[in-house]
Parts: sequence; structure tokens; C-alpha cells
Amino acid sequence: MADYQKILVAVDLSSESDVVLKKAQLIAGDDADLHLVYVQEPMDNIYVGIVPQSAAFSGLGGLEAQLRDELKKKLAALGEKFGVPSDHLHILNGSPAHEIHRFAKENDIQLIVIGTHGQKGLQLLLGSTANSVLHGAVCDVLSVRIRASK
Ligand code: AMP
Repeated sequence: MADYQKILVAVDLSSESDVVLKKAQLIAGDDADLHLVYVQEPMDNIYVGIVPQSAAFSGLGGLEAQLRDELKKKLAALGEKFGVPSDHLHILNGSPAHEIHRFAKENDIQLIVIGTHGQKGLQLLLGSTANSVLHGAVCDVLSVRIRASK
């Protein structure tokens, strides 16, 4: 197995994150550093075209800050559960694939571990986060299959 020293684990903070993290830990063994990355998308990106710009800008800022606090707590809990130190927990702002690529380049990441659902139909056409991360990554990418719960 390749000798990875710095591994980025992309987590969406859902229950799926445990599956992705467990696989990353197996690969990391005792030596590699894991960095957990969650990317918060700006709400005006998400709602552009749905909510009028003026409404979006006036109300969403406060909500976004509140959300960020909650996300920080969730990421801290995940880090604690998996023994990842707090300085290896990162909340970034922007589009997930772009930020993951940027972080990987700036921090000499050798492997990105990300979940994937094996999309079909419309989802496949629209593309997934894993697809977007794979295209344009300058390091290895491991996609961890998330199985639908029955
Ligand atoms: P998706 O295809 O968007 O449902 O996400 C699949 C995987 O992409 C997740 O299991 C995470 O590994 C990663 N991911 C999705 N959204 C984010 C996010 N906002 N920040 C970091 N990683 C993410």
C-alpha cells in the first residue's frame, strides 16, 4: 500500500461520515495524519435564483454564522470520536470540490478520502461531490462506497 503521510477526509457531517472516516483510519494506520474537512457552502450560492438577492443578503448572514457554530460542534464531536486533534479539523467556505482541491494543494495532501453513493439516473447526470473532487485532483483520491441503509 502507498505510504500516505497526510490524508484529507471529506466529511459532510451526516452519519455517513463514520463510514468514510473508518476507512481513512484503516489506511492511515498509526503513522499518517488525518485532516477532516467540511465545506460550508455560502447560502447565497445555494439560493441564488430562488430568493431575491436583497432578501438573501439581509437575512442569511446571521443564519450562516449560527449554522457555522453548529457545524463546528458537530465536527469537534466527530474529531473526538475518532481521536483526530482539533488543529486537524477544518471548516472551509465555498464550493466543496474547489475548496477540497485548494486545501489539498496548499497542505501537501497525498490522499483524499471521500464518500460516494454510486449515483444512477439524474444524480449521475448532475454529478456528485466525489465526481467533482476526482476531476482536477492533483493527488490520489479514494472513494468509499456508501451503501443505502435498508
Ligand atoms: P454527495 O455525493 O454530495 O452526497 O457526498 C458524498 C461525499 O462527499 C460525502 O460522503 C463526503 O465525503 C463528501 N462531501 C459532501 N458534501 C461535503 C461538504 N460540504 N464538505 C466536505 N465533504 C463533503
